[in-house]
Amino acid sequence: MQRVYNFSAGPSALPEEVLKKAQSEILCYGTSGMSVMEMSHRSKDFMSILDSAESTLRELMHVPENYKILFLQGGASSQFAMVPLNLMNKNKKADYVNTGAWSKKAIKEAKRYGAVNVIASSEDKTFSYIPELDIAKFDKDADYFHITTNNTIYGTRYAELPDTGNVPLVGDMSSDILSKNYDVSKFGLIYAGAQKNLGPAGVTVVIIREDLVGNAMDFTPTMFNYKEHIENGSMYNTPPTYGIYLMGLVLNWVKEQGGVDAMEKINIEKANALYNFLDASSLFKSTVSGKDRSVMNIPFVTGNEEVDAKFIKEATAAGFVQLKGHRSVGGMRASIYNAISLEGVQKLVEFMKQFEAANK
Ligand SMILES: *Cc1c(COP(=O)(O)O)cnc(C)c1O
Repeated sequence: MQRVYNFSAGPSALPEEVLKKAQSEILCYGTSGMSVMEMSHRSKDFMSILDSAESTLRELMHVPENYKILFLQGGASSQFAMVPLNLMNKNKKADYVNTGAWSKKAIKEAKRYGAVNVIASSEDKTFSYIPELDIAKFDKDADYFHITTNNTIYGTRYAELPDTGNVPLVGDMSSDILSKNYDVSKFGLIYAGAQKNLGPAGVTVVIIREDLVGNAMDFTPTMFNYKEHIENGSMYNTPPTYGIYLMGLVLNWVKEQGGVDAMEKINIEKANALYNFLDASSLFKSTVSGKDRSVMNIPFVTGNEEVDAKFIKEATAAGFVQLKGHRSVGGMRASIYNAISLEGVQKLVEFMKQFEAANK
């Protein structure tokens, strides 16, 4: 069986080189005589896997010295609670922008712990754009300001980060971390589930500025307290060892490709190939316009559900899989994370052209 072109939104395609490397080491890692899965998380071999993953991520994202990096579990969804539990600690209020299903979940969770001020929303048009942010509405006393940098389901992203002044910016970067160069120093905290752009499901990356640590609410469960995880070097309990190992391989792969700048350049080429085709097509159209278009997740429709279904069926048969759109948008969605090659996107566009010609 041949590997397919996998446009899954997550868990998503991993670089083939990474999978092959993991395969070659699955029985015996280095001179350990065992699989990484079978190793104590306190062993020398695993400690060095974790240290190296952390330092490679730090290098790739130019994470400043005064930020800690954590590898946790519980997905980005746990961060929806962990962020307010740890950060909503001075004035018990935070600003949120509602740009989609993940933002909504983050808002819902934060409301358990304090006052949430939704300063803008794009829900009126099925989240097909990033709302204009009126700085006059920003609360200067908010404990933090939360955004979802890339909206996986709706295919939008912030072309520019909001300037929140002294209020720490918190970013859910699950679906675009390492896809472009972000200035980490503009954020107080970044979190991301690994399964979109970093590795397999099971690891959650948190990058947090040191001064934000140590003031969690009294009733914060130990496992939800950043301070505990920092003091224990992501080893308060057993970390997701194999996931961290695989993420380390992905990080090395990104480095070999030329780092985040190189990824960004290719990602823009990939996205342009698809958007240019969609904009010229008489059958398919993009559901997002202008500067808010995501470079990672590209939803599109034909406007006819039967034709959409036919397209998905024929695409799958031709080896272009997981193209079905999220149920709230319908149609199709191509997720073109770092591991998807320019060639993969060009092949998809070629297939779409043929489908269009045959279904005029
Ligand atoms: C996938 C995703 C999530 C949810 O991640 P889990 O790891 O399943 O909790 C949250 N936010 C964004 C932007 C996502 O893409």
